[in-house]
Amino acid sequence: MIKVTVWNENAHEKILPRVTEIYPGGIHEEVARILRECDDIEVRTATLDQEECGLPDEVLNDTDVLIWWGHMRHPDVPDELVAKIKRRVHLGMGFIALHSAHHSKIFKALMGTECYLRWKENQFERIWNINPAHPIAQGIPSCFVLPEEEMYGEFFDIPQPESIVFLGWYKGGEVFRSGCCWTRGAGKIFYWQPGHETNEAFLNPHCRRVIQNAVHWAAPTFWRKDIRVPYTGKNAEEDYALGIEEEI
Ligand code: ZN
Repeated sequence: MIKVTVWNENAHEKILPRVTEIYPGGIHEEVARILRECDDIEVRTATLDQEECGLPDEVLNDTDVLIWWGHMRHPDVPDELVAKIKRRVHLGMGFIALHSAHHSKIFKALMGTECYLRWKENQFERIWNINPAHPIAQGIPSCFVLPEEEMYGEFFDIPQPESIVFLGWYKGGEVFRSGCCWTRGAGKIFYWQPGHETNEAFLNPHCRRVIQNAVHWAAPTFWRKDIRVPYTGKNAEEDYALGIEEEI
C-alpha cells in the first residue's frame, strides 16, 4: 500500500462558498476521493488549522507521498516543518505540488528558486500530453480541454525539469509547463498546474487520472539511510565483510 497524505491549507473553503459548492468537504477531500478509487493507495487528509499544521512527526514519518495544496496561507507554514518535509523528501518521500503550491515554502525550498510565474484570471486551457511514454501520462489523451482554468504562464521560474509531461496552452496565447518532474535526493517531485479553487479541475477525469498516476510514480522505491561502516584500517572489502555497518 502507498500511504498518501493530502495536505490543504483549507482557507478559501471558509470564505468562498463556491469552493465547497464544487468540492464538498474541501479540496483535500476531493483529492482524497480521487485516490480512494485506487485499491493500492491508503489516503488520509491534513489541514493547516489542525494541531501541528496536520503534520506531526507520526503522520509525516508514516507518509510515502505528500500532496500539497496551498495559496493564501503559505507564510503560516512554520519553517521548522518545511525543513522536516524537505529532509523526508531527500530520504525518499514523494511530493506532489498542486496548482498554487508553486509558491509554497516547501516547493520553493525543494526547487531552490523563487518559482514565480505569469498569471491571469480564468481562461480556456488546452493541456497537451507531450511525453506519452511517461508513467504519469498513461491513459491521458494527446490533449484535453479545461473550459475554465486560471492562467499560469511562462516564464515559470523553476529549475529545468528532469521531465516535462504536460504543456498548457491558453486561449490568450500563453503557454505553461503544466506537469513537471524532478528528483531531490531519493525523493520524486511532481508539479501539476490545474486546480484553481473556484474551477472544477479536480472533477475532470483526465486531471483525476494524472493525480493517481503521479502518486504511483512518486511512491518511494528506495529509502535512503545514513550508513556508517567503522573503519578497521584494512580495505573496503574486508570492512564490509565484517557486516558491521550501522545506521546512524
Ligand atoms: Zn489559483
